[in-house]
Amino acid sequence: MTAASTRPPILELRGLTKTFGGLKAVDRVDLQVGEGEFFTVVGPSGSGKTTLLRMLAGMETPSDGDIILKGQRINELPANRRPTCMVFQSLALFPHRTVGQNIEFPLKIKGVDRAARKARALQLLDLLRLPRAYYDKAVTKCSGGERQRVALARAFAYDPQILFFDEPLSAIDYKLRKTLEKELKDIHRESGKTFVYITHSLEEAMVMSDRIGVMRTGRLVQVGTPQEIYTAPSNKFVSEFMGDVNIIDVELDAGGQLKGKTLNGRFAAPAIPPGFRQGHLVVRPEYLRIVERPGETENQISGTLYNEYALGSRIQYQVRVGEQVFTLERLRQQAYEGRLDEAVTIGWDARDSVLVSE
Ligand code: ADP
Ligand code: MG
Repeated sequence: MTAASTRPPILELRGLTKTFGGLKAVDRVDLQVGEGEFFTVVGPSGSGKTTLLRMLAGMETPSDGDIILKGQRINELPANRRPTCMVFQSLALFPHRTVGQNIEFPLKIKGVDRAARKARALQLLDLLRLPRAYYDKAVTKCSGGERQRVALARAFAYDPQILFFDEPLSAIDYKLRKTLEKELKDIHRESGKTFVYITHSLEEAMVMSDRIGVMRTGRLVQVGTPQEIYTAPSNKFVSEFMGDVNIIDVELDAGGQLKGKTLNGRFAAPAIPPGFRQGHLVVRPEYLRIVERPGETENQISGTLYNEYALGSRIQYQVRVGEQVFTLERLRQQAYEGRLDEAVTIGWDARDSVLVSE
């Protein structure tokens, strides 16, 4: 399932493949990235994200397929002749230089004069929300988050058409990372540039991206908006990748109804795809409810309240049904006042679940 961007494409990949010996690190990837889009590739470690990005940036040659930038095939174009820029982690900054010297580096190579360089560097400090006084500050005196911003300002100084990011926030602690995620989204918006971003955190991808491509063993298994990926995952892998999820293994019975494979019961589901025989019924924790009145939900199962966890504004409950543990959440104001180990019924409506065959 490939949801198209609504913008004109700036970058197009056709059957893009990279093999290392017998290993297909990237396997026949087809994709269009729209101009000005924030596109994120997400997938577990080793799924081929970095290899994909290195091909796009010109640091790795494709084994097969094409990379097309604004209608031109650029497979063999070296990195330094592509109008794109890889944003390295802040470690790639020159440690013995000032913030200003670091940002101006690309302009200096281009032969831009001193006054114009400084003017642009100050603009970029504004864009990255760093005080202008930082122009003369030693880069070693900046905090981790500030250095990340300087690295980004330097990338903008190249004035690339596309910026590539390979997990730039992965080494940064949680709180700062959350701030930088939002900032990056704002900067994307203000700059109007195309961003192609890589992360192994779907949560991070959700916050920032216009669209997301989920990668697994070299293949792009689903492309869509964050909303589509979250609410309509195309398979079990994608659904599980995004945080907690409840999955019931199901099969069609002789009467064409869905029946649990390990759980007893028949379940109402959204439309059953043609040819479906067996698969998984996926229910997100926020759609699963503790049922207090009979018939409150279309599907119901009985279990016991196993544990509860305070998550700040929400409370998470775990309910055991046979061997399986179900997770559900309620807002704190609607906390369920139950005793551990007491019998509870949990339920959900068919429209709040997704049926996948893989
Ligand atoms: P990710 O960035 O998603 O963690 P990578 O693109 O780094 O994944 O790696 C994908 C697969 O390709 C991995 O199995 C990795 O070991 C392999 N790989 C990456 N680069 C090379 C290389 N230069 N030589 C051989 N194998 C490689
Ligand atoms: Mg990687």
